[in-house]
Amino acid sequence: MSEIESADVVVIGGGVAGVSAALRAVELGAKTFLVERAELGGQCLHRGLYAIKTALMRLEALKESAAGSASPDVAGLFQTVKTAANNISAQWEQNLEKRKVQVLKGTGSLVGGGKILVQGAEGERLIQSPKTILALGSAPKEDPLIPFDGETVFSAEEIFEFQELPKNILIQGANRCGIELAALLNQLGSRVFLNDEGSRLLPGRDPDLGLFLEEQMKKRKIKSLLNKKISSVFKNAGALDVNLETGIKFSTDAMILCRANKANSEALQGTGIDLGEEGEVWVNEFMETTFKGTYAVGSLTGRERDPLLSEEEGRAAAQNALGKVTPLDSKQTPYLLHSNSPIASVGVVCAEAHHYGFQAVEGKCDLSKLDFALAKGEVVGWMKIVGDKSSKKIIGAHLCGPGAHEALHLAALAIRKGLSVKDFAEMTCDWPSPFLGLKKAARSCWGKLMKPR
Ligand SMILES: Cc1cc2nc3c(=O)[nH]c(=O)nc-3n(C[C@H](O)[C@H](O)[C@H](O)COP(=O)(O)OP(=O)(O)OC[C@H]3O[C@@H](n4cnc5c(N)ncnc54)[C@H](O)[C@@H]3O)c2cc1C
Repeated sequence: MSEIESADVVVIGGGVAGVSAALRAVELGAKTFLVERAELGGQCLHRGLYAIKTALMRLEALKESAAGSASPDVAGLFQTVKTAANNISAQWEQNLEKRKVQVLKGTGSLVGGGKILVQGAEGERLIQSPKTILALGSAPKEDPLIPFDGETVFSAEEIFEFQELPKNILIQGANRCGIELAALLNQLGSRVFLNDEGSRLLPGRDPDLGLFLEEQMKKRKIKSLLNKKISSVFKNAGALDVNLETGIKFSTDAMILCRANKANSEALQGTGIDLGEEGEVWVNEFMETTFKGTYAVGSLTGRERDPLLSEEEGRAAAQNALGKVTPLDSKQTPYLLHSNSPIASVGVVCAEAHHYGFQAVEGKCDLSKLDFALAKGEVVGWMKIVGDKSSKKIIGAHLCGPGAHEALHLAALAIRKGLSVKDFAEMTCDWPSPFLGLKKAARSCWGKLMKPR
């Protein structure tokens, strides 16, 4: 091993969370190392939500092209997804190097005294750093009763290895990954069942968004089995016989487990970093672990999140590590779901706003009533703006249907910048623009805010 090198910040793990942390750290002038043992981009880019999204986008483009009527070539599509992920990963690496992040290929570990050991194909390196950001990610969690077998029971990560799709697929877990995967597999022609023990889709979000999603899935013939626990699964001649606790029995060709992942924290045992029952690293709102100078971000911290939040956490951790103290307000991070119809949300939900000290009212615009809907043909969706009675500021936006993803970014910026509902109500919009729905929702909200109590 060569001599000890020094750094201001070492980030271990090059998924979305780690890359974002490293980029923010160099931006703040820190000498930064990023250690990655496999491909930059992590689970999300290569086998997770970015990959699912890439496949959905490619399918959409295919449908719009002349070849759209032919049934899609699954193996070809998944190969395209892998190629796109590798290209993005290579671009990230170039960008990191251009911005002067030193990318080290190898496995990083904490060896005490602020030292990080990197073991790679080219040997070992030892780096001394006052600040370490752990972005080790997570991996699919196996159910001991239904182990992954590569034949009928799979993790979501494995679908991109499929050469052809099973006719019937049961997705277990209606989290973000399960929902987006259901949309993809349905569009590729499989008959999809989506099962979850929870009683509604998108818990924690505006309840009407969950209902909208359920309706859209029904239209697409995706069968949602909510509030239902699987009691047993038996292999039967290359298929699976599934029994639900409610007594429902059915057979499926394959099952994909989309439950919460398990944190990659095995190597952190005994380092002084406190872990939760599921191995997740405990952090405070500054992304600090219980071990001084060490931060943790992304899915390593266990909470169910999406890549945008992982990215925000990376930025926040780098800022906090370098003395620009910024607590993370996860409510300000936009949430965009790529299902059969766009769903997007940011800020607080009206019914829960009082928990955050707000007195909330909401205004809604039905998109089907807008001029552009009549011009375009069938448009289904709505936009809601939540305002606070005392400050008159926008504190939430919940949107679905055409334009929801585009419009959400404006709403997220408005919340971050403390704009008032009136600012939105007075916005000038072109008539076919998705922002018109936001404006109308804000007008309705403003009317209610101005009503005497
Ligand atoms: C099936 C499925 C389930 C999901 N479940 C969750 C979930 O439960 N929670 C959640 O937050 N998000 C989940 N997601 C969403 C998404 O994948 C993550 O939010 C996102 O990938 C998190 O990014 P990350 O950077 O934290 O981790 P990752 O994308 O996993 O990246 C971590 C990176 O660290 C590298 N690494 C790990 N250990 C070391 C080491 N010692 N040295 C060097 N490199 C190392 C890995 O190779 C990897 O590239 C899930 C996605 C899917 C597809």
